[in-house]
Amino acid sequence: MLRRLKELQQRYLRKAVSDLYSFVYPPTCVGCDGPSYFDWVEQVRSSSHPISPVDHEIRVRENWCQYCLAQIRAPLKQRCAVCGAIVPIHAAHKGRCHLCLFSDFHFTQAICINNYGGLLQALVIKMKGQRCESTAIQLGELLGYEIERLDFVDDVDVLTCVPTHWRKKIQKGFQASELLCRSASRISAIPCSTKILTADRATQKQGMLSDFKRFENVNNAFSVTPFYQEKIVGKHIVVIDDVMTSGATTSQCAKALRTAGAARVDVAVVARGAKSR
Ligand SMILES: [Zn+2]
Ligand SMILES: [Zn+2]
Repeated sequence: MLRRLKELQQRYLRKAVSDLYSFVYPPTCVGCDGPSYFDWVEQVRSSSHPISPVDHEIRVRENWCQYCLAQIRAPLKQRCAVCGAIVPIHAAHKGRCHLCLFSDFHFTQAICINNYGGLLQALVIKMKGQRCESTAIQLGELLGYEIERLDFVDDVDVLTCVPTHWRKKIQKGFQASELLCRSASRISAIPCSTKILTADRATQKQGMLSDFKRFENVNNAFSVTPFYQEKIVGKHIVVIDDVMTSGATTSQCAKALRTAGAARVDVAVVARGAKSR
């Protein structure tokens, strides 16, 4: 009884401290550093346009202002059925973008928050360039909501991420895809294992290469770690990464997983690179 009372006391104390903190330091928008939550509540009350429950949840939990959220999150329509790129209807052919008409990926479907550009591009650059963990977490959580929108979300067994070679890991000390994966898992409530895949050799930076060289650069560069070899057989896996441009890296990850016996592999990335469209 006394323990229960102590627990309740602590919980209320924590809430009071957190409320006081929010009052003194009101949360600001991740995208623009402008006012977010309090401003938003007022706008919701006075708005003539109803906001979807999902968008509202993102707003409240992730502290995006409505302008940034509208900019960053693309509608589900007008997406390439294979790579997830946002494609104008007139530019799509059989629901596919230009790249996917000719590509043969090892994954079934890819999704993204939006095309690489504007605010999303600025945030990705901040995440990678400044090794900004908080931005990686926020983008990962947005990606988690994106995964939740999928028709087949209930069939997904596990999330994993594109691996980094151990030498690069030591040099950088920061792996964006791991943080993205963990955050997406927290939101979508799908378990994650960031160590399923391993990079067998160091590859060159994909951004410096042509599309053809990109495929050559990562060809057979990844494999499933021995610990997970049996565990992934028959599983539906989603591979997480920051940006997908040619699709070469994520496709090779999917190839390694499928070869090891995964039943289906999909891909979820923060942004779909513009170069390939
Ligand atoms: Zn904003
Ligand atoms: Zn496509």
